Amino acid sequence: MTTFADLGLMPGLLSAVRDAEYETPTPIQEQAIPIALTGTDVLACAQTGTGKTAAFLLPLLQRLSQSDRKGVRALVLTPTRELAAQIAESARVYGKHSRLRSAVVFGGVSLGAQIAQLRRGVDLLIATPGRLLDHLERGTVSLSGVNILVLDEADRMFDMGFLPDVRRILRLIPKERQTLLFSATMPKEVEHLAHETLKSPTTITIGRKTTPVESVRQVLYAVESEQKRDLLSHLLAHGHMRQVLVFTRTKIRADRLTKHLAQCGRRVAALHGGKSQGARTEALNSFRNGGVDVLIATDLAARGLDVDGISHVVNFDVPNTPEDYVHRIGRTARASATGDAISLVSSDEVSFVREIERVIGGVIPCQVVKGFEPGADTLRRFERTETSRSARMASGAIRRFTPRGRGLRRSA
Ligand code: AMP
Repeated sequence: MTTFADLGLMPGLLSAVRDAEYETPTPIQEQAIPIALTGTDVLACAQTGTGKTAAFLLPLLQRLSQSDRKGVRALVLTPTRELAAQIAESARVYGKHSRLRSAVVFGGVSLGAQIAQLRRGVDLLIATPGRLLDHLERGTVSLSGVNILVLDEADRMFDMGFLPDVRRILRLIPKERQTLLFSATMPKEVEHLAHETLKSPTTITIGRKTTPVESVRQVLYAVESEQKRDLLSHLLAHGHMRQVLVFTRTKIRADRLTKHLAQCGRRVAALHGGKSQGARTEALNSFRNGGVDVLIATDLAARGLDVDGISHVVNFDVPNTPEDYVHRIGRTARASATGDAISLVSSDEVSFVREIERVIGGVIPCQVVKGFEPGADTLRRFERTETSRSARMASGAIRRFTPRGRGLRRSA
């Protein structure tokens, strides 16, 4: 079995990894770290939850420690504030035995403290594109010394409309550098970006790009849309759900559901882009430290969220893109744990489920919860889908995901 020491990491990093209680490198770490240590460009197709952050941070920190130049020499660009904060925390953990200084800049908080930190001197800068451009325009940071660049979650940066900002930033970084690009999927815009920015990269693909983490048990509950709220309350009360991340389609639905569950006596918080940065951080912190056990989020805010011990992901609304489904359910079963992903599916969402199953290449078992049976019309829509799902399965077009139940079953 490969160890971290086999990958060529220096003693300080090895001991930080030991302190983090990582026993062996994950596949992306095993493949990316030795290559990145040589200074070669890397194009990696890997989801969050695979250990990709350490896959780029460990070699980056090692290469930074080996040079004694001053100023910002490594830049990590990532799409959301939460991801930026998480990467900064990982950099602190992995870099604790080095003298390297890292800083994180993202929007929604005042510029002053960030400017002060940048003035004190920074080796590694982690940033969201918009706030970094603010700093660049004000002249509070210079990227002229950057020789390692990481583009993290490049597909999400594209989805969120950040690629023009990323390209503006790229023009301010020396061409002579190492670039590592990480993306869960490879839409053609990201391929173009990779083509423009990487020099003879080594390509690494971990798993099929849209395969959900194998250790997540998935289930669908067929339900009328107006019954979803009560079904969720019922599941929270009876489903042995410890730490639950619930996804809704919109901010308004997240707020309404949060209010409703709070009125039912649940300890619940909401996380979405309509909240101030302070409120987002507070919601996330209380979810992390157990102050609340239900967090209701929209896709944007929860992207890449890394919270240990999420026992259940609930899709209160089924996402209309399969990639979002895969990202959402990847929030549970992080690293080696297992987890459950429950989707509450109303009749108007059956087509989304079909598309998800087509992309993930599997059938998700569908059940009905006693007391929340949908009406006959809704059931017919599900059964039509069930029939076509069974036919597709029989033809070998798709494979079953979990052996739990076939067709519509009742559950307690
Ligand atoms: P990431 O994909 O970078 O978001 O990492 C997912 C989670 O896996 C984080 O909580 C990491 O702390 C954890 N992790 C990363 N590498 C390892 C490893 N080699 N062994 C165990 N856990 C790890």
